[in-house]
Amino acid sequence: MGYQHDISSVDGAVEEQWGRICEKMKSEIGDAAFKSWLKPMSIKDIVDGSLKISVPTRFMRDWVMTHYAERLQSLWNRENTGIKSLDISVQEERKSPTAALASKGGPFAAPLSQPRPQSSSRGSKSGMPELRSAATGRDSLSDERAELCAPLDTRYTFDNFVVGKPNEFAYAAAKRIAEAEVVQFNPLFLYGGVGLGKTHLMHAIAWQIRSANPNRSVVYMSAEKFMYRFIRALREKNTVDFKEQFRSVDVLMIDDVQFISGKESTQEEFFHTFNALVDQGRQIVISADKSPSDLEGMEERLKSRLNCGLVADIHATTYELRLGILQAKSEQMNLIMPQKVTEFLAHKITSNVRELEGALNRVVAHSQLVGRDITLESTQEVLHDLLRANDRRVTIEEIQKRVAEHFNIRISDMHSARRARSVARPRQVAMYLAKQLTSRSLPEIGRKFGGRDHTTVMHAVKKVDELRNAEQSFAEDVELLKRMLES
Ligand code: ADP
Ligand code: MG
Repeated sequence: MGYQHDISSVDGAVEEQWGRICEKMKSEIGDAAFKSWLKPMSIKDIVDGSLKISVPTRFMRDWVMTHYAERLQSLWNRENTGIKSLDISVQEERKSPTAALASKGGPFAAPLSQPRPQSSSRGSKSGMPELRSAATGRDSLSDERAELCAPLDTRYTFDNFVVGKPNEFAYAAAKRIAEAEVVQFNPLFLYGGVGLGKTHLMHAIAWQIRSANPNRSVVYMSAEKFMYRFIRALREKNTVDFKEQFRSVDVLMIDDVQFISGKESTQEEFFHTFNALVDQGRQIVISADKSPSDLEGMEERLKSRLNCGLVADIHATTYELRLGILQAKSEQMNLIMPQKVTEFLAHKITSNVRELEGALNRVVAHSQLVGRDITLESTQEVLHDLLRANDRRVTIEEIQKRVAEHFNIRISDMHSARRARSVARPRQVAMYLAKQLTSRSLPEIGRKFGGRDHTTVMHAVKKVDELRNAEQSFAEDVELLKRMLES
């Protein structure tokens, strides 16, 4: 029948019912969407009226949950009254991140990859410690440590991290810590804006250390969790144990310490734990959204202590880095992305990597759902709202000003009715750039150019395209202007 099933504990009748539901779903949502989202699901078991279903990735689970769970539930109700609920989880068996990366369609490969065949063997064949998915919230370490350490995302490995100018220093520092046997700089303080890869790098350190030496104790936790635990320990009068837990840790990573600032007692405790660990030669890694000196509400002595290790900042992304990230991610997803679309996204979604990833996922999900290839037009349509938000940065007025300067004409000529080529050409270039760099519609653009008609704008765009193809120097001029406006 071709559906994924694992019927060791589910009988043939259930299998048949699933087959019928699949056929029904296929006719409702279409072949492409069915193949991407539902076919990879596998029926595992029925426990107390709950049907256990597993999917290969977290992304898939979330997608299925939000889009198909309700429909599936009602189809099941019809087929089998014994099934009261669906329990969709991420396939527990995971390869270690390195092993998973070696095969195409690793942990990041969500919608387009073929479902990974399920193997029945437990544990690790690669000799790596077994790592479970973040979604299951467990790992193979002792319970106590596992409880202390937050779940790690299997996608956040060094191999999955794209290195470019803005993050190469932070990357090198993180890598050094993951590889070093002895402490080299303490603490490592990573800082940068949201969505630029701080958490990714911290998880990557943890993955690498664990796979190289499972006996080393690595703890990663958010500063909020640290605070929460400390406050709980205070309440339970258990602060001695609390300290002990941390003091037996080889590498301690605390994410987003800006959340600790202002909380005096937690800061105090953090400081003590921190000092004790440093004195014992343990490695500490800390992240924040600001540099140590800029952290407000942080005690001076804590600041200066944070400052004395290595401070590495992650800068805002560049076009090249964004392009690299998009290429890497689409490769991991086995996606065929037209180069034009990749470039478009890299130009437009400039805020941070998280948003860039989100945009890519949306484009992919949409193309899967409607069963059509990814094109520039569909991308613009799907990301309409996002593009607008990212666009606000370049305005038509700015474009007009820059272009007028460049061609040595007056700004008023952008609006005037003069038709002399010396002003008409720059005006066309400005219209062209307005179309390229903002999400304004043709009529909107026309209005800003002295109330011209949208067909005039359309003509300008076409004309500039033609000239760009015909004249190398003109093409370079336009490209230069575009870069200037974008930077
Ligand atoms: P932060 O902790 O700085 O807010 P994250 O580490 O959570 O940011 O990163 C946000 C998302 O962007 C994550 O999914 C992460 O995998 C991805 N990401 C960030 N930087 C990179 C990079 N250089 N290469 C690949 N993915 C990245
Ligand atoms: Mg983070």
